[in-house]
Amino acid sequence: MGAASARRSFLRGARIFTEGDAPDVAYLVESGRIEVWTAQGSRRLTLSYLGPGEILGEMAVIDRAPRSASADALTDVVVTEIRADQLRARLDEADPVLRSLLIGLLARYRRGLRVARGAKAEDQDKDGAHVEQQRRVADKIRLERELLEALERDELRVVFQPIFDLQERVVAGFEALVRWDHPTRGAVSPTEFIALAEETSLIVPVGEYALRRACRSLAELDRRGRVGPQPWIAVNISARQSLVPDFADLLARTAIDAGLDPRRLKAEITESLALDYTRVSELIARCRMHGISVALDDFGTGHSGLGHLYRLDFDSIKLDQAFVRPLPGDGKAAALVCGIVRLLHGMGADVVAEGVENIEQARTLKAHGVRYLQGWLVGKPVDPSSTDPLRVAPQLDQIEP
Ligand code: C2E
Ligand code: CA
Ligand code: CA
Repeated sequence: MGAASARRSFLRGARIFTEGDAPDVAYLVESGRIEVWTAQGSRRLTLSYLGPGEILGEMAVIDRAPRSASADALTDVVVTEIRADQLRARLDEADPVLRSLLIGLLARYRRGLRVARGAKAEDQDKDGAHVEQQRRVADKIRLERELLEALERDELRVVFQPIFDLQERVVAGFEALVRWDHPTRGAVSPTEFIALAEETSLIVPVGEYALRRACRSLAELDRRGRVGPQPWIAVNISARQSLVPDFADLLARTAIDAGLDPRRLKAEITESLALDYTRVSELIARCRMHGISVALDDFGTGHSGLGHLYRLDFDSIKLDQAFVRPLPGDGKAAALVCGIVRLLHGMGADVVAEGVENIEQARTLKAHGVRYLQGWLVGKPVDPSSTDPLRVAPQLDQIEP
C-alpha cells in the first residue's frame, strides 16, 4: 500500500487535528493515548479518550464535513494514516441503505454536539441533505418490506412483450417482464423495485416468482391452442440469481413443472454480469445441457466490451435501445448498427433489436440484417391471458419481406 498507510508520530501535548479543519485522513492509533474534545463556551468538554487499535478522525472523512472536534496527544502517540479515498472507496461499495444509515447517524451525532456546545433549537435544522437522505432510506426500507409482502400475497404479475421474427413473419417469442401494482402507490416501475431487490437477496425469490409465473403463463397460452412454431419465453436473470447453486437446473425444473419443454426458455443476462466470464460460461454450458438458450441483454450499455464477447457462446444478443433510438436519421448510428450486427452474426449469434418504436427503425434494422424486433411497434408488454399476445401488429405488414 506504500504511501497509503504512512506512519506518523506526535509528541505528548501535540495537536493531531483541530475542530473546523477540512478532513484529509483518518488514523489508526498504534500506541499512546489521545483526547478528543470540543469547546463548550470557555470550558473544554472531553468527548472521548482513544488508545491502541482504535480509529480516530474517520467521521469527518466519511461525511465530508469539517472536523467536529479537536484531538490532542496525551502521551507520545504513533498512528497509521488511513487515506480519505481508501475509506470512501469502501463506503461507496457498501450497501446503500447501510451507507445512508451511517451518514444519518453521524448527522445526529453532530447535532448532539452542537446542542452540547449550547446551540439553540432553531440552529438545529442545518442538515437538509441528511434529512432528505434519511427520508429516502426510510422509503427504501418500507418498499423492501412491502415487496416481500407482495411476494407472499401473490401480488406481482408478469407481462409478455412480443418479439417479432422478420424472416418467418411471426411472433417468435416473448420477454417476460415483472409488474407490481402497489395497493396505494400504484404501478411501481421494475427499474425501481428490481434495483432495490438486487441490493438485497430479495431478487432471488422475486426472480424465481417471475420465472414460475412466466412458465405457467406460456403453458396456458399453449393450451389455448395455436398452429405453427411454438414461441419461446425469455426471462431476465440478475447477477445474484445466477449465483444460486445449480441455477440452470432450477430453470429447467421450473419449466418442466409448468409443463413446458426447457428448450422454450431463454435466459437473458445483462452485460454487467457477463463481465465475470468464467461464471457466465459455466452458466451457459449448464443451460445448454438442458436445451435452454442464453441471450446477452442490453448489449452496448455495460462495460464488458468486445474483448470478452468471443469467449462467451451466447445464442442471441439483444441490441440495446440506445442503438435503435437514433435510427434511421443519423448516418453514424446506422453505420454502427450495421457493423455490430455483422460482427455478432459472424460470431454465430442471433440479434434482437430492442426498443423499436417506429416503422423506419424497423426498416433500417432489417436492411442491416437484424432478424428479431422487440418494441412498441411490435407490441407493448401485455397480460398473457387478456388478449392474444401472438397476434402480429398490422403495421408490420408495411415491412416488405
Ligand atoms: P429490459 O430487460 O431491458 O426490458 C426492456 C424494457 O424496455 C422494459 O421495461 C420494456 O417495457 C421497455 N420497452 C419495450 N419496448 C419499448 C419501446 O419500444 N420503447 C421504450 N421506450 N421502452 C420499451 P420494463 O418492463 O420497465 O423493465 C425494465 C427493466 O427491469 C428490464 O429491462 C429488466 O432489466 C428489469 N426486469 C423486468 N422484469 C424483470 C424480472 O423478472 N427479473 C429481473 N431480474 N429483471 C427484470
Ligand atoms: Ca431483458
Ligand atoms: Ca434490454
